[in-house]
Amino acid sequence: MREWRRDIHAHPELGFEEKRTSELVAAKLEGFGIEVHRGIGKTGVVGVLKNGGSRKTLGLRADMDALPIQEANTFAHRSRNDGRMHACGHDGHIAMLLGAAQHLARTRNFDGTVHFIFQPAEEGIGGARAMVEDGLFRRFPCEAIFGMHNRPGMALGRFAVRAGPMMAGGAFFDIDVIGRGAHGARPESGIDSVLVAAHIATALQSIVSRNVRPVETAVVSVTQIHGGDAYNVLPQRARLSGTARAFSTEVMELIGRNLARVAEGVAAGFGASAQTDFRAIFPPLINDANEAELAAAVCAELVGAQNVRRDPPLIMASEDFSYMLAEVPGCYINIGNGDCEGACEVHNPSYDFNDAALPYGAGFFVRLVERKLQK
Ligand SMILES: [Zn+2]
Ligand SMILES: [Zn+2]
Repeated sequence: MREWRRDIHAHPELGFEEKRTSELVAAKLEGFGIEVHRGIGKTGVVGVLKNGGSRKTLGLRADMDALPIQEANTFAHRSRNDGRMHACGHDGHIAMLLGAAQHLARTRNFDGTVHFIFQPAEEGIGGARAMVEDGLFRRFPCEAIFGMHNRPGMALGRFAVRAGPMMAGGAFFDIDVIGRGAHGARPESGIDSVLVAAHIATALQSIVSRNVRPVETAVVSVTQIHGGDAYNVLPQRARLSGTARAFSTEVMELIGRNLARVAEGVAAGFGASAQTDFRAIFPPLINDANEAELAAAVCAELVGAQNVRRDPPLIMASEDFSYMLAEVPGCYINIGNGDCEGACEVHNPSYDFNDAALPYGAGFFVRLVERKLQK
């Protein structure tokens, strides 16, 4: 697994461009005697391993894409591709799932069908959705689905499993403010779109504090304001953009409705108008309570219950495995990447997946299959 992981690390590819990576995955699976389907969701790969007569099914998922980051590491397996880097540990996720596939193909200590799902483009460009829309669960039915992400700063040999909501759903928004352009010294002859945008940015902060129930968790962040090109011109238009995060579809819809109402209402109060575009990008990631229980039991079997954290805090970041979990019950867990040297945060140019975590992740997948599809 270490060899595979370092090979993949040295040849990172961006989302939907994982040609070498998905071919490597497909060739390995075929080498293990596993039936392989290529090109699902563009560069996605699915391996199918059947054993016995049971009709039970199970899906295991790993993500394959790298990031547009220039790697700062100098070790032998550093990136060979300029400006590309496995800075999120997806190289490790692939190697762990390949390791589990090889072991299960050899030992076959299960009764049913395992689908090994290698997903492209996790980093914000919709690889999970592409696979689902390409018929992933129609062609490869899964009664439950599981995945994991490494977590730097969590000790090696530790897992975190949370039932229910775990990671936030994400939305992006744009608000176009349309006023009336004028001379900067003669504001009375125009409608100042910059002033209106400033009031909207302030008023939007009332959504989380006044519209969302205080016991719910949500974020509304205006991250961009654009308008104007000159010192002495009040621009006709200004644009606000940003992101919202929430742990339920209801709260996300409430944010979207209120965002449009506040923006359009504030603009109207100034005699301007506003057009809002609010787009949900990721659903919240919600773990099934029963599958989370099983995942935690499998982790405890591997590393002892004292090394399985059952109530990790909610994560405001998003993860597109939520698309698969919205279709099929299952559980997403975190695996400790250690806090030793090199274990800096993901998306950092000095990050590297910790090879010592590989047996824990592969072991989790193997025991999960053996218990869920028990002979
Ligand atoms: Zn990432
Ligand atoms: Zn990641």
